[in-house]
Amino acid sequence: MNFNFHMPTRVIMDEDCILKNSFVLKDIGHKALIVTGAKSAKKNGSLQDVTEALRKAGIDFVIYDKVMSNPTVNCVYEGAKYAKENLVDFVIGIGGGSPMDAAKAIALLAVQDKNKEELFSCSFENKVLPLVMVPTTAGTGSEVTPYSILTNDMAQTKTSISTPLIFPKLALLDPNYMKNLSLTVTVNTAMDALSHSIEGMLSVRSTTFSDMIATESIKRITQSLDKIQIGKGITSGSNITMDIREKLLYGSMLAGIVITHTGTSAVHSMGYSLTYFKNIDHGRANALLLPSFLRFVSKNEPLLVKRILLAMEMETTDEFETFFLHLLGEREKLTMDEIERFAGIAIQAKNIVNSRVVPDKEDIIQVYTRSLHL
Ligand code: NAP
Ligand code: FE
Repeated sequence: MNFNFHMPTRVIMDEDCILKNSFVLKDIGHKALIVTGAKSAKKNGSLQDVTEALRKAGIDFVIYDKVMSNPTVNCVYEGAKYAKENLVDFVIGIGGGSPMDAAKAIALLAVQDKNKEELFSCSFENKVLPLVMVPTTAGTGSEVTPYSILTNDMAQTKTSISTPLIFPKLALLDPNYMKNLSLTVTVNTAMDALSHSIEGMLSVRSTTFSDMIATESIKRITQSLDKIQIGKGITSGSNITMDIREKLLYGSMLAGIVITHTGTSAVHSMGYSLTYFKNIDHGRANALLLPSFLRFVSKNEPLLVKRILLAMEMETTDEFETFFLHLLGEREKLTMDEIERFAGIAIQAKNIVNSRVVPDKEDIIQVYTRSLHL
């Protein structure tokens, strides 16, 4: 057996954990930049809890609340400028993956003068502002990963900045903030997390250790998604029980630990074009492609796929596909021209080779076609 496990983020999960642990923030810094999206952090109570905890701990703060979904490079440069002007010494990201990823890039750019090329090529000096994360969606696992994914207009895709420097120091997980998260965002983000754990198990970098975490994550998320499947009585996000919310948050954090060790693979690489060109939500983009990709892998690695199905209490890839089709509802369509173009982009993505069964361009075209054209 061989593995190399490293997870430097302290994770605290509890109801009201921010207020209960305000003293922990004292060890991190004296003045915080809080990074959020425009609305949700103000509505769901997370921003209020963070500012109250900071006040209690005697820590000064400023707020940058302009992060959009799929954050742009301009947004993180603007946030970094604001951090420098205000002389902050740590960064708190509150929100879904978008504000958390923006917070990570801001924490780097606040102390390093890097242009866009250097940012995406990850050539950094060994300095960064410490990061604290408060996830308010259960999907990306960004609270425990060393990745920040930004919209890269130069390459017309989304590109991952990957450096151990941006491992958060602290992640505070409270499912209460998700009480009013819509059904659509809940399902999309859960499918992203499921995709992380499944892609982790399909990765050449998977180990016995990462598979153990992935299996637990897949179980928790599948059981939760099964309960909230459209048509099973849950009609809005506010009908989802706290027990389910908690399982999803736990499962997505575990999935973040998985991709920290394995990376994502072909499904994410193919999904980025769906988001960049067709504006399809990140988690949904992965879920659209996952069933066909799993079928493709099962031709060469049937036992590996069996292990994933077993964790989901399923027997066949047909069952797997039906499960996703129920969650996805009507699927978007691509033209053959789009498929050709997106396959050309995906084949160049660095994570494609992470796959235990590496698809060639023709295989990628087939996965796109089966998922979004037939
Ligand atoms: P998101 O873009 O962060 O948020 C989606 C929407 O949900 C936004 O409109 C947001 O509103 C709202 N929202 C967030 N929390 C809410 C809550 N508790 N209640 C009500 N509404 C809420 O979506 P995401 O799927 O979490 O993150 C996607 C991003 O993460 C993508 O850019 C993806 O590439 C990246 N990602 C990163 C990693 C990683 O390891 N770093 C892994 C996978 C994916 P506001 O804008 O008002 O906040
Ligand atoms: Fe993802």
